[in-house]
Amino acid sequence: MSAPAEGGVPQAAQRPAVGYALHGDIAVATVDNPPVNALSLAVRSGLMAAIGHALADPRVRALVIIGGGATFVAGADINDFGKPYEEPSLYAIIDALMASSKPVIAAIHGSAFGGGLELALACQWRIASPDAQIGQPEVKLGLMPGGGGTQWWTRLAGPEVALAVTTGGHPVAARQAHEWGVIDRIASGPLLEDALAMAQDVVSGTLRARRLSEATDKIRDVDPALFDAFREKNARKWKGQLAPRKIVDCIEAACRVSFAEGFRLEKEAFRECEHSYQCRALIHLFFAERAAGKLRDASRATAAPVRTAGVIGAGTMGAGIAMSFANAGIPVTLLDTSEEALLRCMKTITANYATSVSRGSLPQAKADAALQRIQTATGWSALADADLIVEAVFEDLAVKQDVFRRLDGIAKPDAVLATNTSTLDVDAIAGATTRPDRVVGLHFFSPANVMRLLEVVRGPRTGAAALTTALGVAKTLRKISVIAGNAYGFIGNRILGAYGREADFLLEEGATPAQIDRVLTDFGFPMGLFAMRDMAGLDVIWRIRRQENLTRPAHLRYSPIADRICEMGRFGQKTGRGYYLYKGREAIPDPEIETLIAGVSAELGIVRRDIPDTEILDRLLCAMVNEGACILEEGVAQRAGDIDVVYVNGYGFPASRGGPMQWAVETGLASVYQRVLALHRQHGEYWTPSPLLAKTAACGQDWDGAAAPAP
Ligand code: NAD
Repeated sequence: MSAPAEGGVPQAAQRPAVGYALHGDIAVATVDNPPVNALSLAVRSGLMAAIGHALADPRVRALVIIGGGATFVAGADINDFGKPYEEPSLYAIIDALMASSKPVIAAIHGSAFGGGLELALACQWRIASPDAQIGQPEVKLGLMPGGGGTQWWTRLAGPEVALAVTTGGHPVAARQAHEWGVIDRIASGPLLEDALAMAQDVVSGTLRARRLSEATDKIRDVDPALFDAFREKNARKWKGQLAPRKIVDCIEAACRVSFAEGFRLEKEAFRECEHSYQCRALIHLFFAERAAGKLRDASRATAAPVRTAGVIGAGTMGAGIAMSFANAGIPVTLLDTSEEALLRCMKTITANYATSVSRGSLPQAKADAALQRIQTATGWSALADADLIVEAVFEDLAVKQDVFRRLDGIAKPDAVLATNTSTLDVDAIAGATTRPDRVVGLHFFSPANVMRLLEVVRGPRTGAAALTTALGVAKTLRKISVIAGNAYGFIGNRILGAYGREADFLLEEGATPAQIDRVLTDFGFPMGLFAMRDMAGLDVIWRIRRQENLTRPAHLRYSPIADRICEMGRFGQKTGRGYYLYKGREAIPDPEIETLIAGVSAELGIVRRDIPDTEILDRLLCAMVNEGACILEEGVAQRAGDIDVVYVNGYGFPASRGGPMQWAVETGLASVYQRVLALHRQHGEYWTPSPLLAKTAACGQDWDGAAAPAP
């Protein structure tokens, strides 16, 4: 291959963001913007210059655009969304490519997503490495393709494929895209060589010149009912979301109007999505999830590798936790007091894997391999070599302390000892060992093999090495970890306590479980609070509540409704009755419960009234935010975004609303503060405004600015 004939376009340093070289009569533009060749301003300028050079040079007969390093252009720079466009924009490049009198070939390896893929789609031809991936993931950030994606996918692959790919946002393998006609050729040798060969085929006329924007064979004879049927099928899933609906509109338009008109409509729709609160919410979560597992202070250490793990307690949580390790390739030993408990647990685990295989979500060989990684034991010495041991026995401090005392005797000195407690003091558990610096909380959510959230609880004596190792293993398990302080309920359950309490008070004042649940599902929660309690089982928390009631200050308002329901033996779905009656999994409002609630109101001297849905939503969300602000101020959460990550990934808060703290920002922190003040005047002590909320309202700072300690 020939050496570069000309330089590229300089980036801030000497190295050009886009290299330019002649290979005989074919020009090659190589994007070089590590790590993922994102479409920065320097890259866009470099591409424009490369196109200009190629067009102006009479020696050049075609241009190849390729990525340097591990990938093609993986996408736009997320930081650029919602900001004014700097020229040359992607639009200008697309226009230049579409108007080019010389053929342009995109050579794709690694990934080409979003704007990166649209850059390739604007070229006349595309060749890809067999393992390349392409896709339009914008919808996951509340966005839609904005560089012609909806129009090209429809014209190249037809509306059905276009709808699935652009509203799903999932990556598509190059071979599949080739079958659909979106990729023209799969490389069989080195990509650049094959791309140059393809360019020769184009200039020699072996591949005939074409204009993709005029291709109509895939949009002819489209059944117009297709689009409404697709909207209807997804109505529930897309509730409150703008982007997928706009995508369908644009794909429908692609079948009816010219490419230029379709592209114009897509640009308009993209702009609308880009400035929607949903887009702000999802981009906030994107960055919040990446930040949540990082320590803000300097107490980081090097994560030790976790090669083997142990799990104590082969119950509901133990089974899921063991599966999480096995799925991540880490051999795990599951320990319980009896063979019977272990047999029962292995039966559950085996059945879980069988279900995944039968649903087609897991290949049999992978399920077999994962199952092989799970061993069982009743003798504690089986855990002696484990790098990490997670305790998931009964929620009882004495039992857990006994377990940790035993562990202290057998675990190797550098093992990390973790507790999965939901409510107990991690430090009191650590105190049962001679090495409290090695003890950490790992609060998995149920089912632990499915739920991605993990609260990593840092006790006052937890050492940096144990904490960093725990955060490292969370990554291996593909969990989204959030660091929480050792306070009652950590982040998630403490907020659940606050808004659950408000929901109970709303019942006493006139609402019903069905009304409150409907308000929450209308807002976007997949399930209401009372339906969720019924699913989790009412007895577990009842047991905890009875303990707590022994020390609860008598002057505080307390709703007895939940206790009364449990006293009737109604423990939720598991007994077929709870806040609702159950026909299978269908929750049916029960007049008996409504009578019980009305009776409690009468006993307490509360005159029931019709409570508007807006008041219900306001009180529940403001309760979450006020408690979240307390958590932030106390340092139990490191950042406001951490609270949002917990609520979206563990408690069903709609992602398109960004989490409770982001909801408050969108609503206006001063306005939320005023509402909390009003509720405090009306309902008393539980509504004492968080000082941090007052501070944000007074000084107009955002959460993290206000929470940061003074320098
Ligand atoms: P579970 O009752 O289903 O299982 C507990 C298991 O621990 C049983 O198999 C029991 O035989 C075993 N066990 C008890 N004492 C033991 C000992 N001394 N040595 C060895 N094994 C012992 O309980 P679960 O729902 O799996 O909860 C376990 C822990 O996880 C609790 O601390 C709970 O608070 C916490 N947690 C539960 C959930 C949930 O949704 N269930 C969610 C997060 C955290």
